[in-house]
Amino acid sequence: MDAFWMPFTANRQFKSAPRLLVSADGMYYRDDAGRQVLDGTAGLWCVNAGHNRQPIVEAVQRQVATMDFAPTFQMGHPLGFEAAEKLAAMAPTGLSKVFYVNSGSEAADTALKMAIGYHRVRGDAARVKLIGRERGYHGVNFGGVSVGGIAGNRKMFPVALPTVDHLRHTLDIARNAFSRGEPEYGAEWADELENRLLTLHDPSTVAAVMVEPMAGSTGVLIPPKGYLKRLREICDKYGILLIFDEVITGFGRLGQDWASNKFGVLPDIMTCAKGLTNGTVPMGAVLAKPAIYEAFMAAAAEGAIEFPHGYTYSAHPLACAASIATLDLYRDEKIFEHAGEMAPYFEEQAHALKGLPFVKDIRNLGLVAGIELESRPGAVGKRGFEAFVQCWERGVMVRCTGDVLAVSPPLIINRQQVEQLFGTIADVLRTLQ
Ligand code: PMP
Repeated sequence: MDAFWMPFTANRQFKSAPRLLVSADGMYYRDDAGRQVLDGTAGLWCVNAGHNRQPIVEAVQRQVATMDFAPTFQMGHPLGFEAAEKLAAMAPTGLSKVFYVNSGSEAADTALKMAIGYHRVRGDAARVKLIGRERGYHGVNFGGVSVGGIAGNRKMFPVALPTVDHLRHTLDIARNAFSRGEPEYGAEWADELENRLLTLHDPSTVAAVMVEPMAGSTGVLIPPKGYLKRLREICDKYGILLIFDEVITGFGRLGQDWASNKFGVLPDIMTCAKGLTNGTVPMGAVLAKPAIYEAFMAAAAEGAIEFPHGYTYSAHPLACAASIATLDLYRDEKIFEHAGEMAPYFEEQAHALKGLPFVKDIRNLGLVAGIELESRPGAVGKRGFEAFVQCWERGVMVRCTGDVLAVSPPLIINRQQVEQLFGTIADVLRTLQ
């Protein structure tokens, strides 16, 4: 076990008591002891259609046997174009240009470069600053980690981008505890953007504001009603691009296709990954308004490369095959609609945990919920971790981020599995110290 330096893992602790998954089907994993484990987290927020879906499996198998790899630098292959058309057709209306990458982190850094590049090709080279938000997570590459707002991910690397600033996060337990869906209070947190633009920055030096419409991995922070609309208005007022990171919120997670549509706010650039291939083959994408693409095209001389950026595996044929099959499956099985229909029951079951020991707040939207536990003094995160391990021992996989238990099951979940998920969490909470 020693060779694998595991990501975002307490390696020594894990290796002393490993949790190993060996197969998966539908809503369930199997571990190395043959136990069935309910997948309460869609893998890592990505297996939205459930595991081992045959149309995706077969599409990948066919593709690997037909053409394993093809470059997309000054070359192409038909699946890349077909996959992009399909994604653009289901994307929020107005985001019709697709740049492929291989992960959410790459999507974040690509989006940030695209934003800075866009201003520059239009002759606005002063716009280089980027504004993110505390508790924002945009992956782990230098751009994303800089604009992201997680101190723990940043402090080991004091060479992050110098031209970033952060808004306050939107969690306000004092006013919004146990809100169902979008919290009532906090739209005014968005006004901090305008205040900062006018007091700390010259607004004409800011390229973009990047946020997750709903911050997932830092504890499920649902945006207060009206907050995102207000951000959009302020960005428009000062000519700043708005970037939504929909790596978690895309592909039905919030009970609708995209957070942008759910909240009625269209960003200029949007990132996605995870559910794009149902987690089967790594892939991410950056979607942009046509005006952004056209600006790059117009600025470069004929024959010149307009955007000097891309990855060996951009639009990898296996990922494209997986994505096409995934998007078809979402449509054919009406998986986002099912998520929307299941959401009220999921909400009811999540909020039934209120009153159990240590439950400080419950937040939910669509098929995602965060259950925040009181932290043990001097040991932040310990109680959450113990709850996570105990759920695993009882056959349910949840995630913990600090002392927040996050659940985000595959969107094909049924009522009985929703009960198993929250019932197990309830049993665990009753035994916690
Ligand atoms: N953005 C968001 C909102 C995410 O939740 C994640 C991953 N959890 C990422 C970016 C990074 O994605 P990846 O791990 O695929 O690089």
